[in-house]
Amino acid sequence: MAARYVSLEEDTPGKSGLISTDNSLIFESTKGVDVLPTFDQMGLRDNLLRGIYAYGFEKPSAIQQRAIRPIISGRDVTAQAQSGTGKTATYSIAVLQRIDTQLREIQVLVLSPTRELAIQIQAVMLALGDYMNLHCHACIGGTNIGEDLRKLEFGQHVISGTPGRVLDMIKRHTLRTRNIKMLVLDEADEMLNKGFKEQIYEIYRYLPPSLQVVLVSATLPHEILEITNKFMTEPVRILVKRDELTLEGIKQYFVSVEREEWKFDTLVDLYDTLVITQAVIFCNSRRKVELLAEKLREANFTLSYMHGEMHQRERTAIMKEFRDGESRVMITTDVWARGIDVEQVSLVINYDLPPNRELYIHRIGRSGRFGRKGVAINFAKDDDIRILRDIEQYYSTQIDEMPNQINEFVKQ
Ligand code: ADP
Repeated sequence: MAARYVSLEEDTPGKSGLISTDNSLIFESTKGVDVLPTFDQMGLRDNLLRGIYAYGFEKPSAIQQRAIRPIISGRDVTAQAQSGTGKTATYSIAVLQRIDTQLREIQVLVLSPTRELAIQIQAVMLALGDYMNLHCHACIGGTNIGEDLRKLEFGQHVISGTPGRVLDMIKRHTLRTRNIKMLVLDEADEMLNKGFKEQIYEIYRYLPPSLQVVLVSATLPHEILEITNKFMTEPVRILVKRDELTLEGIKQYFVSVEREEWKFDTLVDLYDTLVITQAVIFCNSRRKVELLAEKLREANFTLSYMHGEMHQRERTAIMKEFRDGESRVMITTDVWARGIDVEQVSLVINYDLPPNRELYIHRIGRSGRFGRKGVAINFAKDDDIRILRDIEQYYSTQIDEMPNQINEFVKQ
């Protein structure tokens, strides 16, 4: 089974020319990239600065200190930083600085891989732009097309969307592209991967030639960085070294389970720990999510579950329930692996190991948001131990056998 466990990245030895900076991050191509330790120094408009502070941000994170200004300057930018370090606000703040709110035309298009993420990005934009009279619409699949048409007809400054619906709206000429000056690809490696690439290229062809492109992700494998030359011009690259990708705040463990059936009992044993704060449990298929949820409910456990084949209305309701803390356990597929930000999640369980190394980073990154503590527990059958060792080595991290008193590690 090890063969299927291939990373998007070729095995390249440690990159050269890296400069160590604060927050133990290592950035590449920092030449010409200023580090601005406060939002006040970024030359932002007053109503935006007010939105940032009102949202509760006091000091910019490492990636925000470095990437906001280059994006505002109009350069193409590739920005990589670990999960939960504020990448969304990085480009959102720059976007809000760049748009002309007097012109109610779409000026920025942000694309992301899941509907939930597109909605979350829209919420961040609207919150930061609270004093700017901003119009930002989430243009996503599974929703009423009439509503999309109405919102687009009314006029928007920013669209946060998923590729399928956005392309559909462009082709209907309801999403007007002529004033778009910036394209942001969040989770860029996923957007440029097999599943989405063609759609992204197709959208790109409808956008004006002077377009600024911004790519953002926690994982940006070599292979992906190489193809970005096709549509980026002399990008400013702010990259994290591979072995700096896992966060110190997230402790990683494994539990050996000899047989698949043992996973269920192991999970039941852990249930008290799961509900200390909030937990996300990842399975590798929709069917498995449903079966596990059903079995747990039969055993009187409370939980939410979600996967990509549910109706959007149901998905949105479940997200709200979980965000509001009404349920504490989320069983899901990789639809939840990237970008979703729920502060209270402090435990991630890989009921099944993820299908590649990048997804491992993204999944465990659902906990430990913005410097908080987190715990990741991997359920490992015999073969899986080898895969975990490979992950350990690849990211220079440590995945220990789970101690008995695991709940002591899960902080409230
Ligand atoms: P990423 O995209 O890097 O995974 P997010 O953009 O989702 O991370 O940010 C993670 C969390 O950190 C969010 O809850 C966000 O509100 C918070 N956050 C981002 N920037 C700051 C900041 N400068 N100060 C405080 N909290 C921040």
